[in-house]
Amino acid sequence: MEAVAIKIHGIVQGVGFRPFMHRLVREHGLAGSIRNTSSGVELELEGERDALERFVRELPERAPKLALIERIETEYGLPPRGLQGFAILKSHAEEKRNTLISPDIGLCEDCRRELLDPEDRRYRYPFINCTNCGPRFTIIRDLPYDRALTSMGRFPMCPDCDREYHDIENRRYHAQPDACPVCGPRVFFLDGEGRELSGDAIETARAWLKAGKILAVKGLGGVHLACRAEDPALVKELRRRKERDEKPFALMCRDTAAAERLCRVSGEARAVLESFHKPIVLLEKRDRRPDAVSENGYLGVMLPYTPLHVLLFGEDIDALVMTSANLSDTPIVYRNEEALERLRGIADGFLLHDRDIQTRCDDSLCWVVDGREYFARRSRGYVPFPLRVPGAKGGILACGAEQKASFCLSRGDYLFPSQHIGDLKNAETLEHYEQQIVHFERMFDTKPRLLVCDRHPDYLSTAYARERAEREGIPLVQVQHHHAHLAACMADNGLTGPCIGLIWDGVGYGDDGTAWGGECLIGDYKGYTRFGSLRPIPLIGGDRAVKELDRLAFALLREAGCDTGGIENAEFFGKMLDAGLNCPLSSGMGRLFDGAAAILGIKRLASYEGQGAVLLEAAAEPDEGRYPVVLEGSPLRFDWRPLIRGLVRDRDAGVPAGILAARFMNTLVDMAVETALAASRESGVKDVCLSGGSFQNQYILRRLPGALEKAGLRPRLHRRVSCNDEGISLGQVMVGVFSA
Ligand code: ZN
Ligand code: ZN
Ligand code: FE
Repeated sequence: MEAVAIKIHGIVQGVGFRPFMHRLVREHGLAGSIRNTSSGVELELEGERDALERFVRELPERAPKLALIERIETEYGLPPRGLQGFAILKSHAEEKRNTLISPDIGLCEDCRRELLDPEDRRYRYPFINCTNCGPRFTIIRDLPYDRALTSMGRFPMCPDCDREYHDIENRRYHAQPDACPVCGPRVFFLDGEGRELSGDAIETARAWLKAGKILAVKGLGGVHLACRAEDPALVKELRRRKERDEKPFALMCRDTAAAERLCRVSGEARAVLESFHKPIVLLEKRDRRPDAVSENGYLGVMLPYTPLHVLLFGEDIDALVMTSANLSDTPIVYRNEEALERLRGIADGFLLHDRDIQTRCDDSLCWVVDGREYFARRSRGYVPFPLRVPGAKGGILACGAEQKASFCLSRGDYLFPSQHIGDLKNAETLEHYEQQIVHFERMFDTKPRLLVCDRHPDYLSTAYARERAEREGIPLVQVQHHHAHLAACMADNGLTGPCIGLIWDGVGYGDDGTAWGGECLIGDYKGYTRFGSLRPIPLIGGDRAVKELDRLAFALLREAGCDTGGIENAEFFGKMLDAGLNCPLSSGMGRLFDGAAAILGIKRLASYEGQGAVLLEAAAEPDEGRYPVVLEGSPLRFDWRPLIRGLVRDRDAGVPAGILAARFMNTLVDMAVETALAASRESGVKDVCLSGGSFQNQYILRRLPGALEKAGLRPRLHRRVSCNDEGISLGQVMVGVFSA
């Protein structure tokens, strides 16, 4: 017999780690104790050497899914003290808010089995959950994470549930949201007038869905609007009622097999789709054709993630449109009364329940790149889990951008990015943003001593930060938009040294007061130089050019010396350009994409930001052609005029738009590599961070990293936060850390 001291570093508190340890210790016939520390947990165990070693070996493989073990230190051969059983010791440093809060977790296999087992006491109970699954973040009102302070507080446990809750051997040990049909929440169905219908609510909902009705269905972080996905007329009707013209809807498919009938699902995509995070995964359609659900080559697909969803699909519904219930830019509807009021006339019926949602949280959205999530939106199922960034410091609140707003709060080297918030220009969204900041500061017991925001004078996040800095006397740091993107990608990859950043997006406020967005920066958290950019594009009519893409096409064509005939209002645009009247300059990559989409006849009038770029990518046909890359000046400007001339020449010669879309993007890949190489020659830096919303383009993402590697550079992609503006709050924190 001997004793071993084990220190486990990482994210191991508040993730069901101690009960797991208890079971593993018993399984191996050991005895000892566990204690939380500031960096993880400490164990003292006694037993045979063999058994102790086996325990340490198995520990990382079998740890709870939310645990993140960074390092295990062991000290064997200590004298045994004759310990008995397994004790969970209180640590001195343990504060009530020191633990982490779990994201909401998709239904686990054990619970699914019970849900569908007629012999089980929770058979067909739509709120079944356990230590490994169920709602968390979205039902927490306050800390400590205890049933009384969640939405479950009003459902006292029945004796059966209570027994399970207190039994450390039970898989519901300390599962705060645990419930059963005797003691827990109930589901109900209301018609379009808000009258509750008697009978089995879920069966009624299923019948209505099958009959072609549009329903509001309450989920984990908000209410969805749902309807059968196979019926284009019905999907169009949903678009009409929701006032959403063209933006793709998400689907929920019954299982992976149902998803595979519509899309290609690689093994890697399948793993993400089926993971406990249950994000919406963007999958390539089998036929790549636009349809009523999605106008591009992808479908956003998720699997049923609550027991309610599983019951709703049953055996005979394959795919439902499941879109956030909101109108245009307002936040997702999440309260029952709100749903009944706001969705009247939009939903034909309502499948609701009496477990309140405390915190809105939209579905997460990602592609699968190199076997893992590549986020467009990191939200439900991931938030509020922290990222650990070496060198970070606590007490910093970064306020993010505006359209894809998020914020990020730091505590020690843990960074807590918020869920998806939305566009702050909407008053209700702004209110939601401010409420969530308060909520995060409370949950993570952190009052900011430094605020960080964008340099854009008109962002509402900037206004929030300035106002608060003044009111509370907190120092404020303003960070250039694309520098924050670079820092975000560095932090995401754990990099500290100088990096090259290819930062491509629609628009960010530049240091010269113009709109930037096709940038090559060299820098680190402390600062940057603008090494390269695009030849500026005049935006005829300013913001109107973001929607009316012919304005961009005209500007590109005119500057390239091409014929502008065929563009409506050409004469008027020409006059504006000549007079320099309301034609602000932009080096945004998104604008170049939009202009090209209009020139190729792919999209002329955008109904949402970035639509031209999305459709240009979707149109691309396999082709390896490209146009010459011309770079000149300082900053090194990409002169897109030869590219535009090439496109026009080939277009007029009858080359299909899909081929030209490919050639356009191939040329940008070449440009990216040449620019990065030039930056590397000047700086000696090899790491190339790719950030900004344009890197949601999967065509470029499939080609550029390989091309950079071939050129001897190290491409760095976003891994844990989105490359779009949602991710920049992470970078803002790190710039804040190094600003002092
Ligand atoms: Zn479970
Ligand atoms: Zn019960
Ligand atoms: Fe941006």
